Amino acid sequence: AKRQGRGCVRVFDESMDESIRFRRQIEGGLSEAIAKNELKLVFQPIVGRDLDITGFEALIRWCSPEYGMVPPAMFIPIAEESNLIHELGDWVIDEAIDVLKSWPGQYVSVNFSPRQFRRHNFVAHVVERVASAGVEPGRFQIEITETAIFDNVERAAEILFKLRQMGFRIALDDFGTGYSSLYNIRRFALDCLKIDRSFVDGMGRERESAAIVHSVIHLGRALGMEVVAEGVETAAQLEALRIAGCSHMQGYHLSRPVDAEDALVLAEKGSLA
Ligand code: C2E
Ligand code: CA
Ligand code: CA
Ligand code: CA
Repeated sequence: AKRQGRGCVRVFDESMDESIRFRRQIEGGLSEAIAKNELKLVFQPIVGRDLDITGFEALIRWCSPEYGMVPPAMFIPIAEESNLIHELGDWVIDEAIDVLKSWPGQYVSVNFSPRQFRRHNFVAHVVERVASAGVEPGRFQIEITETAIFDNVERAAEILFKLRQMGFRIALDDFGTGYSSLYNIRRFALDCLKIDRSFVDGMGRERESAAIVHSVIHLGRALGMEVVAEGVETAAQLEALRIAGCSHMQGYHLSRPVDAEDALVLAEKGSLA
């Protein structure tokens, strides 16, 4: 038993080493990825009830010649632990703005990590980039999660208020998975709630998920907010969401994220119907 125990400890140590080495590799690769042109954005349509496309969420992709397709869930948290997230985030903003200019009227929804949001002069930073590109702030949506706001509620409220005053759209991402969700929607100036896909996924199976989806839809509507159901994967989910009165939908059943060229084609068509 003792040997087994020691073995476990050693395996644990080795895997720690492995994971630290892996992190360093990713960090190193990522810091060169922009210059080497290995990053790209893909865009997933967000549609209204009649399948008209109102916006696109920008999602980052890293095609590394060394590691292959690295999913953002793997490298964003690593970037988030260093200043790399700022460089990466700025690249995403600029790229999203650039693509947005060719769409007829839809908005682009950009993910901001908590650390970007907490950056000194965050508002001035975003405003400068969007304004200097000549883009209307109403076509730029800032997606944040509750993690970004809960550690300094007063400051977050001030930032979101300023951004919204200037016409930016604000969406609360992964709604329902964070802390004190109801408090946050009362306290903050928001345009859009994005229902986390775990609830949409559970809708057809569990009474609890279905009840939560229904109440978020009603809450959003009562407060004049757009509600986007994320992760719609089946026709049955789409139908259930429509019946529940959900205003907007996003998910593989409607469209996978597509590259900029295909997004332009969809944007010009204006609808997924
Ligand atoms: P998220 O913001 O919640 O983005 C939605 C994720 O769900 C995306 O994964 C999208 O491809 C995926 N998705 C969309 N429809 C469906 C569906 O019907 N079923 C399922 N199973 N998944 C669906 P992706 O692109 O791998 O991104 C993962 C996460 O990485 C994002 O979650 C976001 O937190 C982060 N991320 C992606 N791009 C960026 C970025 O530019 N900046 C920052 N800070 N984070 C990003
Ligand atoms: Ca998002
Ligand atoms: Ca989400
Ligand atoms: Ca998420």
